[in-house]
Amino acid sequence: MNRIKNLIDTLFVDEDLSDAGLLEIIEGIDADTASYLFERALEKKALHYKDTVFMRGLIEFTNYCKQNCNYCGIRGKNDKVDRYRLSKEMIMHCCEEGYELGYRTFVMQGGEDPFFTDEVLIDIITSIKDKFPDCAITLSVGERSRESYAALKAAGADRYLLRHETATKALYESLHPGMRFENRRECLYTLKELGYQVGAGFMVGLPNQTPSDLVADLRFIKTLMPEMVGIGPYIPHEDTPLKGATGGTVEETLIMVSLARLLLPQALLPSTTAMGTLDPKGREKALKAGANVVMPNLSPTDVREKYELYKDKICTGDEAAHCRSCIEGRIVSAGFRVDMGRGDHASISAIEEVQIKI
Ligand code: SAH
Repeated sequence: MNRIKNLIDTLFVDEDLSDAGLLEIIEGIDADTASYLFERALEKKALHYKDTVFMRGLIEFTNYCKQNCNYCGIRGKNDKVDRYRLSKEMIMHCCEEGYELGYRTFVMQGGEDPFFTDEVLIDIITSIKDKFPDCAITLSVGERSRESYAALKAAGADRYLLRHETATKALYESLHPGMRFENRRECLYTLKELGYQVGAGFMVGLPNQTPSDLVADLRFIKTLMPEMVGIGPYIPHEDTPLKGATGGTVEETLIMVSLARLLLPQALLPSTTAMGTLDPKGREKALKAGANVVMPNLSPTDVREKYELYKDKICTGDEAAHCRSCIEGRIVSAGFRVDMGRGDHASISAIEEVQIKI
């Protein structure tokens, strides 16, 4: 049998593989072995999550950002961005609409906006939890102090998404002026210690990223063991220092999603909007390669276009209800079933089932 397929089988059985083995897969994979990888990753996902796909309602609540990530369209120094931040009332309104549509997880994502101090965020989190006690709150607001993460957790935040972006120090530092590689990783470990369900993740196709860098990303997630891993193609944005870069492809991103599934069988892996932006069937392909989460947008339509991390982001004109049914249709046509529950990580759902029985 083919050497790459053998390596995939070893990874399937052991749920780990040497760095050299991962590198060999990434460098040697072709169309035939890639379909084999996707099949095995889907099989692994089904062992833990059957045919379900979880839905999260995404609220992009501010595009102000004090950071200057070289790839990101809403970087602080991009003065072409029309900046907005949603009021607490508007955020609550998004949640109300989302709740009616069936969502039980709200993902609050934004730039690093100094307006959203702990006090302001705690007030919002507390109000959401008071009104919707059966919902999970996921935060994605970048690097903060341990004290801040602890206070937000105490207020009711359940999960935190903070992609590590790339696990290679030199590449990280070339992309993030003024940010420390070590700090981002420390934030992730702190979030874990504090009891959040944590999401790390990385972009594929960054300028100067090599297959070894991608192996480092996979090794990092295998070591950190986050509950969630967001993997998406890098898509250039013309108003950033990286304009004119090539960007990642759907195919290479799918390979990373599948490898992440085989390394972390129980992980919650989103099929990202960036995949749907590059290919109309990109999100369905990611589900078939082992992803099991989608995050339709609940943000008010008049701000959607302003949260432009990369060019030509899709779904910017669609009402929340439209996004909900559009994505459901895609999930079902790809052969999966929508689960509108909180969609906790399999290890947590298992603990809760035991507690209910007791
Ligand atoms: N401020 C938050 C949220 C960042 S935006 C934080 O720091 O975590 C969410 C993710 O979008 C980023 O983590 C990054 O991986 C991704 N992203 C940003 N610009 C992108 C681009 N041009 N192409 C693809 N993904 C991008």
